[in-house]
Amino acid sequence: MSADPFALGSRRVITPAGEGPGVVVVAEGRIVEIVAPGDAPAGWEDLGELAILPGLVDSHVHINDPGRAHWEGFDTATRAAAAGGITTLVDMPLNCLPPTTNAEALQTKLDATEGRLHVDVAFWGGVVPGSEEHLADLHDAGVLGFKAFLCDSGVPEYGSFTPATAARLLERTAALGVPLIVHAEDPSVLAASPPSSDADPRAYRTWLDSRPADAEVAAIGALLDGLRTTGGRLHVLHLSAADAVEHLAQARREGLDVTVETCPHYLTLTAEDIPDGATDHKCAPPIRERANQDRLWAGLAEGTIDAIVSDHSPAPAQDKGLESGDFVAAWGGIASLQLGLPLIWTAARARGFRLNDVVSWMASGPARLAGLRNKGVLTPGAEADLVVFDPDATWSIDAAALHHRHPITPYHGRRVDGVVRRTYLRGECIVRDGDLPLPASGRTRRRDQV
Ligand SMILES: [Zn+2]
Repeated sequence: MSADPFALGSRRVITPAGEGPGVVVVAEGRIVEIVAPGDAPAGWEDLGELAILPGLVDSHVHINDPGRAHWEGFDTATRAAAAGGITTLVDMPLNCLPPTTNAEALQTKLDATEGRLHVDVAFWGGVVPGSEEHLADLHDAGVLGFKAFLCDSGVPEYGSFTPATAARLLERTAALGVPLIVHAEDPSVLAASPPSSDADPRAYRTWLDSRPADAEVAAIGALLDGLRTTGGRLHVLHLSAADAVEHLAQARREGLDVTVETCPHYLTLTAEDIPDGATDHKCAPPIRERANQDRLWAGLAEGTIDAIVSDHSPAPAQDKGLESGDFVAAWGGIASLQLGLPLIWTAARARGFRLNDVVSWMASGPARLAGLRNKGVLTPGAEADLVVFDPDATWSIDAAALHHRHPITPYHGRRVDGVVRRTYLRGECIVRDGDLPLPASGRTRRRDQV
């Protein structure tokens, strides 16, 4: 299935060395070399001012398939990913049924992907109280690491650990050499601030007040204390509370192996601007105030935050509470898989960042934390996953035109900069001007084969 050799160049090629003119030479699905235009092979295609980026890596996606495929699914999610310039995504172990907490459940999921992947997909394993005995088998089956919750996961089949028992999990995942990835909100802090029964459930403030930043700070503090004892690797999922950034920076200075991600919604939406009843904005931890957002961007700038990933977690309109507008009852999850690159590029350039910063947060950063060595970077030997991106074209987001299953996103109507013109997966052009012309050619990927 390897496409013919080709070479693609422009004045804006984003490599680990930065941004500059270059030509990417591709053969048999891999990058052979990146050369100066004067040294390029005959017949190379000059894309001028269009940027050439590595395919993005989104290490936090809830595809919900099998079991809740009416919420999302492998075909729709991976189409959205491809159209958005993501060539590798990592599926979360919950919201699907069964949850991916043992090797049989992973096999059920692998079977469900058959012929339906438009990009490459790897998998996080799950761990819930009582499933710890399956960690080694699931690790052998190729998952990248294990996900645990410290608070209610939102689905009854996926239980949670206390901050104290999470330290024992760190010991186990350290022995396997993979990260423990954690939803870090402290349940005792959350229990102390439940949504008030006399508050308006349609007011965003009611939801925000029930998920205080202290819940994240306390949980992350407990996990870092555990890490100081156990060693091993910790990855903090979807950081929203900027108050935790300094704790994480301190842990890094101590030499602890901890990585952190945040999400486009925390970086581009603000609590002050969320209308009453706009439950398409509900997620946990929640979108916070503008001042908090500025400090998350500072965390990215200083390098404490490693990655920006979608946490795409859609649901049908009924579950999302769009008619009632009830923030307390609605499903918590943001649908944005196709939109991360233009959303972040628009916000990042306004703050003075460059395309290579965006690539480091959305491609090489997530690839590194997920242990995907040959993805997310334009370098000889890496898989030839490329994005041709027009950084100066502007457009308006239309939820109905997106590929994910339900036409719901908090970004509907938003004007953004940056259009994905083409996406290449292992040397094949799988997206061209918004169309996906080829049969699905994505593969499932094991930890030790990427
Ligand atoms: Zn998630």
